[in-house]
Amino acid sequence: MRNAKILATVGPASDNPETLEALIRAGVDGFRLNFSHGSIEQHRATLARIRAASETVGKLVAVLGDLSGPKIRCGTFASGPVELREGAPFTLTTRAVPGDQSVVSCTYPLARDLKVGDTILLDDGLLRLRVARVHEDDVACVVEVGGTLSDRKGINVPGATLSVPALTDKDRRDAAAGVEMGVDYFALSFVRTARDLEEAQGLIGETPLVAKVEKPEAVLNLESVIDACDGVMVARGDLGVELGTEKVPLVQKRAIRMTNARGKLVITATQMLDSMIRSPRPTRAEAADVANAVLDGTDVLMLSGETASGRYPIEAVTTMGTIIQEIEGSDVYRALEAMGPFEDWDFAHACAASAAITSRHQKLAAVVVFTRLGHTANMVADYRPRAPIIAVCGAEAAARRMALQWGTIPVHHAMPRRAEDAVTLAAELAQRLCKAQPGDTIAVVSGSQRDTGTKYFALHTLSA
Ligand code: PGA
Ligand code: MN
Repeated sequence: MRNAKILATVGPASDNPETLEALIRAGVDGFRLNFSHGSIEQHRATLARIRAASETVGKLVAVLGDLSGPKIRCGTFASGPVELREGAPFTLTTRAVPGDQSVVSCTYPLARDLKVGDTILLDDGLLRLRVARVHEDDVACVVEVGGTLSDRKGINVPGATLSVPALTDKDRRDAAAGVEMGVDYFALSFVRTARDLEEAQGLIGETPLVAKVEKPEAVLNLESVIDACDGVMVARGDLGVELGTEKVPLVQKRAIRMTNARGKLVITATQMLDSMIRSPRPTRAEAADVANAVLDGTDVLMLSGETASGRYPIEAVTTMGTIIQEIEGSDVYRALEAMGPFEDWDFAHACAASAAITSRHQKLAAVVVFTRLGHTANMVADYRPRAPIIAVCGAEAAARRMALQWGTIPVHHAMPRRAEDAVTLAAELAQRLCKAQPGDTIAVVSGSQRDTGTKYFALHTLSA
């Protein structure tokens, strides 16, 4: 039994009864029908095959219908893919022209919202254009990063606020068909605001809706977006193109934390085991990515190309399951649930953890630790409290060492033998070293009887 679940995208590599069955046996918990590809009739047939495979294996699996949303795409090229060279002119137009080296049609009137100097990204950000001129239906650009461009590749315009509607006519048809064929969840791509979700929910009735977070606007509106849906997908592919790859990891962590806090479903998606599209084994970085998503607290991990079009769909699922299980069986994972790295806290650990937890909920002017040799102070630092640590050390050498310890102001002073004296001294030190004022609260810790003759953990508010 795993805690985190696996959602696999169906595509040519998996859309047959044998492979669907094998995928379920290998550990798939849900399948994604990607409405960006294929016809409604094909998806209807796929769904029937999934239900049959699930019946055969005797395991329930969920089906998520993923609505394309307002993804802008280029049209088709008259004689195959073209090579765009750096510095060359290239025009995107809404005129229905056959594509070639110099022009291609696109599905959205970009000229309406773009201006000279804007950046346009093509094919998952692999190619880059700069807008040189905007004229009626045409956006004339200069190629900044060249490459091969083929039919119907995606167009991203990071930074620009486009007046595209949340749902296209195709989305409306797909939503109606999905409801009729009985998908278990819908996802909506390129969500920007809670309003987009309300509009989609209006089409799908009671079916739960997952918001794909892949637009900068959705990241800005994350809280209201999460509140307006039943779940969130961290759609790292388009998110990376729109926002910058370096922004993806922290958005992932934040979206998972916020969605978990609301008790809703969170899915981490895209490139999790990307190299397994071509290879039977993942890279170590991919193994770490799956592991880290689990440690971040994701409910579901998604496979895209790995199961839709890759050579090793079943191996990808097995591998993902194995990594998840390894992590979930570990101390690191259990420690997250236990809220700290130790399962059986002794008194000093309990003090250190309590000080750190308290500092996250109450403003503390300082955590004052009475520590003969520095052990308890070290423990407090390990829990990373959000307050300076004053380490009152009985041994001078230990106090000196602590000058390099995270967050710690060392003080060499004899250990007070009575708790009242310790509190008085702690208050004095907090005022002197941390500018604590009357009314401020400090934590006072002695974790070991050997240090001070007694043990205590106290929150003390300085009197006037
Ligand atoms: P997609 O969504 O695969 O439908 O584009 C996921 C993503 O963008 O990461
Ligand atoms: Mn996407």
